[in-house]
Parts: sequence; structure tokens; C-alpha cells
Amino acid sequence: MSEKKRIAVIPGDGIGKEVIPQAVRAIQAVGAPVELTSFDWGADRYLADKTTVPPEGFSMLARDFDAILVGAFGDPRVPSNIHAREILLGMRFQMDLYANVRPVRLMDASLCPLKGVEPKDVDFVVIRENTEGVYGDLGGVFKQGTPDEIAIQEDVNTRKGVERIIRYAFEYCVSNRKLDGPPRRRVLMCDKSNAMTHAGGLWQRVFKEVSAEYPAIETEHMYVDALCMQMVRDPRPFDVIVTNNMFGDIITDLAAGLQGGVGMAASGNLHPGRTSMFEPVHGSAPPIAGKNIANPFGAILTAVMMLADLGLKADAERIEGAVLEAVREKKTTQDIGGTLGTREAGAWVAERVSRF
Ligand code: ATP
Repeated sequence: MSEKKRIAVIPGDGIGKEVIPQAVRAIQAVGAPVELTSFDWGADRYLADKTTVPPEGFSMLARDFDAILVGAFGDPRVPSNIHAREILLGMRFQMDLYANVRPVRLMDASLCPLKGVEPKDVDFVVIRENTEGVYGDLGGVFKQGTPDEIAIQEDVNTRKGVERIIRYAFEYCVSNRKLDGPPRRRVLMCDKSNAMTHAGGLWQRVFKEVSAEYPAIETEHMYVDALCMQMVRDPRPFDVIVTNNMFGDIITDLAAGLQGGVGMAASGNLHPGRTSMFEPVHGSAPPIAGKNIANPFGAILTAVMMLADLGLKADAERIEGAVLEAVREKKTTQDIGGTLGTREAGAWVAERVSRF
């Protein structure tokens, strides 16, 4: 018998503490062969003893766990947001989780704000570079507080970083299918190389080089502004999109709008062969925290992604099937048209999972 997969669970702050328990409930209901260990990293811990990440925290996660399930970080009591940066960006950067994978899938036509769009029309994935770009916070401010103030934010793009994320996108395209069966066929690279010529030039050259190794995969390029317009006009042609850290952040929120809002969106932060981290796309959402109204499905679908990545595909499919049913039967939270609370929607899914 194979060993249980070890999963670190870090609910974090705000609605993270409400939605992650529902994801855990689904994992337990399906009987997945996993061992879950919870960690209290987040604002409460930081306010109590000033710990953001305990010493050796990231190496402990990489050594002792197969995957990490994270909620969200951010709390009005910590205005500097230092704990969120150190935990979340720390995990991405220090564990070198360079591929942020965000599937965009419409579960029911009623969730999409576009007219006449069916579930089969929204089924694409955004592969976002996760360790470079403007998120390294390089740069500085000069003459602060004067009329001559200058703020410089550097956009870091290394050949290694660009090449590995583009290659990841092609590999993803080769080894994944659309939900209704046909293989994925096309990788679209999105940049702003007409204005950002240095960084964009590197992305263009590397995209061309790497695509030559995958002659069976179609390629396309779009500027990020044109892509945003196209995504709203007609999302059907999109398949696999690869882009940098900032554009990926922006277009995945737009894409989440097509699938029912950020409450429905899941993501994984991966480095093949290493411990990966999975988190819902939404943040800690302080205005709705503690009210039992946050949609737990983004977190539950994040658990689905994680189980599939751990090789537990049958368990992942059972949970996903239960979420699909919940959406179709409107056994959901209010943001997507139901009347249930966070816990009740999670309980409905868990109950359905255990019946399959
Ligand atoms: P960040 O800055 O990390 O993106 P945030 O906390 O500012 O995070 P989000 O968490 O993305 O922002 O949420 C923005 C708004 O979207 C929330 O205030 C809430 O109204 C809505 N929202 C987010 N997540 C959910 C959810 N799971 N269920 C329902 N509504 C949500």
C-alpha cells in the first residue's frame, strides 16, 4: 500500500480561516489517503509573538510535506502586511515555486456575466510566472515627500525565469486535456512588448525558441490590453496562456469574473519535483470575514487541484463532481446565487462526496 501524502494546512487570516476548514472537510469526506498537519502562521500569531515564519519554516515545509494548502493572508491589524509578504511571497520565492497555475472553468452558465456563454466556452488555464517581474520589490524612492520625488519599480526578467515558465506552459499543454475531452492545442504568450521593449523582447525571443521544440502545439501572441478585451468579448479561443507575474495577477482576476468571481477560483504554485503550494485566488477579504458568507468553493477546488497533483485523481474528481452539483442545484453561498452560509455550503459538498 502506498504511503499517505503529507499535507501542511495553513488557513491564515480572514476568510482563509473559514474556507480552508471546508476544503479539509471535503478531503476528509472523500477519504483521501493523506495526513493533514495545521500551522497557525498568520496575523494572530504575528500579533502574539512577532513570528511571521518560524526559523527554518520553509525548509521544514519542503522536507516534511508533499504539498501545502494555504488560505489567505492580510489583516487590518497588521497594516504593514509584513506577515503576508513574508509568508506568501517568502514561500513562492524561497521555495522557488515558479509556476502559478490558474485554471479558469465555468461550471454553470448562470455564473458568467457574459451573454450566451456556456460552460464549454470557458475552459482555459493561465500560467503565471511567480518569482520575478515587479514582485521582487526592487527599486527605490528618491527625494521622498518633495515635489521632485522619484519612485522606481524594477521589472526583473531573467532568461532562466522566462524560459522555464514558457517551457512549463508547453509541457502543460502537451500533458493536459480540455474538460470535455480534446487535447489542449495552443499556447498564447501575453506581454506588452510594444511598450516594454527590453523585457518583452526577451519573452518574444524565448517564446520563439521554446515553441520550436513543440511543433505540434499552435502558438499565438497578444498584448495584454488586447487580451483583456478579447477575454470579455469572446473567451472561447483561449487554451493555455503564459505571462509574467503582474499581467498574470491582473488577467486571472478578470478571468475569475468569467467563472463566478474570485470566490470560485483556484490556483497552484508549483515547481515540478518539489513540494507545491495550493491557494484559492481570493485574498483574506476583511469586509466579509467572520460572517459565514465567504464562498468556500474556490478553496475546495484548490484542494481538488492539490489532490490531482498528488496523484489522487479519483478523489479529486469526486470532490469536483460534488461542487459541480452544488453549483447546478444552487446549494451555494450568496455571491453565486444561493442562500447557504460558508459552513453549510461546505457541509453540502462533504455530504455529497461521502455518498458517491
Ligand atoms: P488581496 O489584496 O490579497 O487580493 P483582498 O482581501 O483585498 O485580497 P479579495 O479577498 O480578493 O481582496 O476580495 C475582494 C472582495 O471580493 C471581498 O471584499 C469580497 O467582497 C469578495 N470576495 C473575495 N473572496 C470571496 C469569497 N470567497 N466569497 C465571496 N466573496 C469574496
